[in-house]
Parts: sequence; structure tokens; C-alpha cells
Amino acid sequence: MSNKFPVDRALFDDVMVPNYAPSAVIPVRGEGSRVWDQNDNELIDFAGGIAVNCLGHCHPALVNALKEQGEKIWHLSNVMTNEPALRLAKKLVGSTFAEKVYFANSGAESNEAALKLARRWALDVHGADKTQIIAFKQGFHGRTFFTVTVGGQAAYSDGFGPKPGDVVHAEYNNLESVKELISDKTCAVMMEPLQGEGGIVAPTAEFVKGVRELCDENNALLIFDEVQTGVGRLGELYGYMGLDVTPDILTTAKALGGGFPIGAMLTTTEIAKHLKIGTHGSTYGGNPLACAVGEAALDTVNTPEVLNGVKEKAEIYVEGLNAINAKYNVFKEIRGKGLLIGAVLNDDYQGRAKDFLVAAMAEGVMTLVAGASIVRFAPSLVIPNEDITEGLARFEKAVAKIAQ
Ligand SMILES: *Cc1c(COP(=O)(O)O)cnc(C)c1O
Repeated sequence: MSNKFPVDRALFDDVMVPNYAPSAVIPVRGEGSRVWDQNDNELIDFAGGIAVNCLGHCHPALVNALKEQGEKIWHLSNVMTNEPALRLAKKLVGSTFAEKVYFANSGAESNEAALKLARRWALDVHGADKTQIIAFKQGFHGRTFFTVTVGGQAAYSDGFGPKPGDVVHAEYNNLESVKELISDKTCAVMMEPLQGEGGIVAPTAEFVKGVRELCDENNALLIFDEVQTGVGRLGELYGYMGLDVTPDILTTAKALGGGFPIGAMLTTTEIAKHLKIGTHGSTYGGNPLACAVGEAALDTVNTPEVLNGVKEKAEIYVEGLNAINAKYNVFKEIRGKGLLIGAVLNDDYQGRAKDFLVAAMAEGVMTLVAGASIVRFAPSLVIPNEDITEGLARFEKAVAKIAQ
């Protein structure tokens, strides 16, 4: 009765725009931290859909929320509000510094909203000259033209014609480099509270505090892009909570939907009021299905058990990776925070992170890279400890093959 026809990896090259290079393996179902491919081979998931699947695959709380809402109402548009959006917004406000929420569908869209809000706030409050946006080299904020320009890798933003203007880049963890750029013309400083795509680089506490102070001295907004770090990834609900600094605007996406597309921008009432009726919007932003799943994800993650579990599981990873390294000497550093972990390849293996990923996949464990020389792990926040142990054993086999 079904008109479904068989598909395979080769079809990708026939019918898809060639901007990705997906692996040969096509997973078809998942449960917790395990997935199965088309040939029923089982894999342990240390990648989490790039820090998205914070509760693994098909977590019952998320499946229930999706099913329940799926039988009530799917979409209304922003001509009307809806119950799931209001409920999720209330919970985000209740558990963060924020007083107001704007919903989007992705990280880039949430950041786009944050940047547009910052520009509008500056225009309204300080006048037309205050447009400079300071961001950081190696930072990543998404792929819309504004966000990719604010991101710190020209390779991603070059080649598309004229870029949005007045965006400059300082060096992460180098307060002097921010001092040199910032002035009363600075509208906002945008940063990740731990650089993800840029190489799993944690900031020092002094750096983050220093940036906050510079923003205050220059009447600039501090925007934290918590798209990757948010919703428990670092062991706190949001990364800023472990840094003793409060941003003016925060963006969250990835784990917020646990695998269902959603993003949000959080801010104060005072700043939010500059995004007046008609200044910005999105057809799907605040969609009831997305918000119902988001509420279930937030409720499930925002508990002491899950957040403390992140710290405990992180220790198992770090110990396990150090033990592997003691045998094979491939890493020069294991770094990161919570369950966002980077294993930095040493000089003998520079540029070969992808080889480790491919070898790990062949042994039955999915990993990520962060740049050419760092293997990245961003598993489910509730991955069973047995799955970590088993996945690391598989990863060790992959390392042994490469190191021999
Ligand atoms: C993934 C990511 C984004 C982009 O999110 P999309 O949902 O892909 O648009 C933005 N910022 C950070 C820090 C990210 O890790």
C-alpha cells in the first residue's frame, strides 16, 4: 500500500545540493543513545546530532509531547498565540535572567533576531552611529548572511558578495583585543560562553567578566550565543550560570527541542520593547508542536538529577579518554566542559580528526569533529554509563587502528 521506494546514500549525490558530505551510513531508528542503520547495524551515539539530541533518541517524554500536541493543533501563525508557546516562554523566563522570549526555528534565526534587536535598540536609545558589532575569531553563530558574517571564519562568509557592515572580530580569551576595538560606537558584543565549532575553547572567568565590564562602560549589549552550550550541555541549564556573568540577550536552540527544530532569543523587558510590532517575525516561530516538545525537553533537563548527571558523565569521558591516550598517545589535551568535550590531536595527527571519526563509525560509535584536529563528543545528557563505557571501548579500537 505504501508508495515508499528504497533509497540509499548514492541517491544523495543525484538529488541533493552538494553542500554536505554525509557518511555512507543511513540511520533509520534510534532509542536512547543507540541507533540502527538500514542494515540493522547498531551504533552508539556520542554525537547527539551535534549537541541537539540532549535526551537521546525517542525519549518517552518528548515522544508523548509530540503525539499529544500532534492530535490537538499543529500550527496557527503569529496572528494568534498558542498555549505551548506561552507555557514554554513562561518556563524559560522562570528559569533564567530573561523577562521576554522571542521564538524562532533554529540557532541562526535566534541569533539573527538578537543582532537585529541589538541594532534597533542602539538606534532607538543611542542614535544612528552605534552600529558596531564585536564578535570573536573562530566563533560560530549560524549560516544566515548576518550571522555567518558575525561568525569568526571568513571562509564561511566569503564568496557571497557584500557582507552586512560594521562587524569586527577580536580574539577569544584576549581582553586587550576587545579593549582595542570597543568604543561608544559599539552596539553589541556577541560571544559563545564556550566556543563549540571553533574548537571547544572555554573562556577564562576573568575574560568573560572583563567583556561584561567593557560592555557596561561603553553602553554595549552583551549577547551570549548559547545555541550549543544551552539546555544543560555544560552541566548548568545555561552556560552563563557557571560564569557568574549575566548577558543582556541570550540565544538558545539545538538542545531546546531535543531534535525538533526550535530556537529562542531571551532578553529583558527593557531591551525587548525595541522589537515593536512589525519589526521582526517568523511564520513558524513559536509553532505549537515545537514548543510542546521544547517544554518537555526543558522540564526533563532542568532537574538536579540530569544536570548533576552531566558532570558525573563528563568525568567518565575524561577518565576514559585519558586512559586511551595513555596507551596510544594521540591527544595533546582533553578539554571542554560538561558533555561538550574536545580531544585535541597531538602534532603527529594534525588535520586527521575526520579519520578518527570515520574509524570510530566503522567500530560502531558516532563522534564529531570541531575543526580539522579535534575529535568532539556531544552525547545525550542522559546517556547510560554502560553506553559511555561500551562506546569508549569501540572508540579505543578505532584509535588503535589509526595509531598502529
Ligand atoms: C549550531 C550553532 C548555531 C547555528 O544553529 P542552526 O540551528 O544551525 O542555525 C549558532 N551558534 C552556535 C554556537 C552553534 O553551535
